[in-house]
Amino acid sequence: MSQLAHLCNQSIIRLVYSLLMNNSKKPDICASSPIFNLVFSPAYNTNLPAFGLNKPFALDRGELVLKALHEEFGTPMAVAAPQPLSMEDVLLVHSLAYVQTLEDEQTWLEIFELKAEELHRQTATKALTELIEDFLLKSGGTLLAARLALENGLAANLGAGYHHAFPDRGRGYCVINDVAITIRKLQQEKLIKTAMIVDLDFHQGDGTAKTFAGDASVFTLSVHSQEGWPEEKQQSSLDVGILESEKETYLPRMKAAVEAALSQFTPDLVIFIAGSDVYEKDTLPGTKFLRLPLAVLKERDEFVIDTFKKREIPLAMVFAGGYGPHVWEVHHLAVRHLLISSGIKFSAQICS
Ligand SMILES: [Zn+2]
Repeated sequence: MSQLAHLCNQSIIRLVYSLLMNNSKKPDICASSPIFNLVFSPAYNTNLPAFGLNKPFALDRGELVLKALHEEFGTPMAVAAPQPLSMEDVLLVHSLAYVQTLEDEQTWLEIFELKAEELHRQTATKALTELIEDFLLKSGGTLLAARLALENGLAANLGAGYHHAFPDRGRGYCVINDVAITIRKLQQEKLIKTAMIVDLDFHQGDGTAKTFAGDASVFTLSVHSQEGWPEEKQQSSLDVGILESEKETYLPRMKAAVEAALSQFTPDLVIFIAGSDVYEKDTLPGTKFLRLPLAVLKERDEFVIDTFKKREIPLAMVFAGGYGPHVWEVHHLAVRHLLISSGIKFSAQICS
């Protein structure tokens, strides 16, 4: 794409945003906002070729969201830096036998659905198995976001959401299940008794559903593409599988499902898996069954944030699936709404 075309596209994106955001005032955040809501590290933008990987993971999503917010608010966002999880934490959910297999490259090839010859060894400077550090850090971000949510009401980890990882195996690009580990860790520390997972990724949250199957302390809700991977779905506490032919019903069915979940269960914490792979600009071929416009996803994410805020249930959001150069737009609007809902003011006043 030419530079001019690229600039034009950027302008169009900004115009669409300004139309969507219903707020024409130039916002100004009191830079010293005492609330930390966002968890991020520059290391989230993993150098995948260094590990021999060439996948369209949009690992720059957090960076792009922060950049857009910086431009709009006129000041850099305050972010909390995560600490990596320990292996002890990982073992709260995953079996030792599985964790031991992560020392083998073959395990990683299977999780990333690659044949050995598809690994780009010419660009690799690190072993694939070293990627575990990356997953531990980003998963630590989910734990930190959940802690911040318990303190402040609303928080987001600008990455992670590895909902396909089962206790005894990784799959679907998910090595360890940060969401499940976070819940188990907070339960162990007695900071929460119960939790709900609201999973609105394109793909069913099969790993988390399996992890918490039969556990009355955790309610799992998954609204996903019925035709999409995984073909063999697990049983969540509540599943809503949406067919391509039913995509017009996405919003009302999603809203009804969240209300239904809350009529059955009042959690101490909710983890919101806000996957952007249902976005019409997602580039993963397998997500073709649901192509939803930005306005629908804005309404989706705002509904979830507002619903839990109204009920004073702490909410931690994670990014989960999202592929290609445009999916960050979905997260930008969600994070922006989360910040405003947390009390960050939009005004032209100078903050004292
Ligand atoms: Zn997904």
